[in-house]
Amino acid sequence: MISLTDVQKRYSDEVAIGPVDLQIPAGGITTLIGPNGAGKSTLLTMIGRLLGLDEGTITIAGYDVSSTPSKDLAKIVSILRQENSFITRLTVRQLVGFGRFPYNKGRLTVEDEKVISRAIDFLELTDLEGRYLDQLSGGQRQRAYVAMVLSQDTEFVLLDEPLNNLDMKHSVQMMKHLSRAADELGRTIVTVLHDINFAGRYSDYICAVKEGKVVEFGTPAEIMDGDVLTRVFDTPVKVIDGPDGPLAVYY
Ligand code: ADP
Ligand code: MG
Repeated sequence: MISLTDVQKRYSDEVAIGPVDLQIPAGGITTLIGPNGAGKSTLLTMIGRLLGLDEGTITIAGYDVSSTPSKDLAKIVSILRQENSFITRLTVRQLVGFGRFPYNKGRLTVEDEKVISRAIDFLELTDLEGRYLDQLSGGQRQRAYVAMVLSQDTEFVLLDEPLNNLDMKHSVQMMKHLSRAADELGRTIVTVLHDINFAGRYSDYICAVKEGKVVEFGTPAEIMDGDVLTRVFDTPVKVIDGPDGPLAVYY
């Protein structure tokens, strides 16, 4: 379980996130939704220990993220940030290899190579593994970053907008991969998604963030509701019965 208690982050006098109290259950996919600037990335990067908190406590599987040594946390939680800036002359395989760093400090073992190959396979990047990152499309690069995070082999996986740059087919595939990682590998996945219908279809829980606060937390059946979504996003949203469950309609 991931537990946030009275968590606050102040960027300035005008911009403050929290206080947030939130329990994310172990297992399955929990998705953060909400308008731009609501504080989703801030919450995710605090959970992923890449950003300090001003107040409160976050624990992951009982480990306090503010006091547990990074090298230990890196074995239980991995994070894909919204912006990835280290696009250099690295191949896909080299990038994915970085996920193994917490285990080997840069010297890859035979076991590491297997985990790397599995992550590359999982994201269907095998044919591209020798390519440099700057020779990929945005969507291919996005999949390479997700493969890097999966190769870290942690129980908790945080992904900020993993569908960024992905076309329809690859968005569906990515969500299916993530579902499988949750179901078959027992991972706990926390994502930020903009497509509310992907959130509704693939999440076990949805957490709505607005103006720095958690305003809703529930199952897709509870959150996929016209009134709830209209309130969260401040724009008219209808929810209709689709062939595979509720669908949000907005335009
Ligand atoms: P979201 O991911 O929901 O779009 P963010 O967590 O990125 O929202 O941002 C929440 C708020 O905090 C926004 O108003 C944003 O402008 C502000 N913010 C984010 N990062 C910083 C920063 N490093 N310094 C100052 N303000 C920031
Ligand atoms: Mg964000």
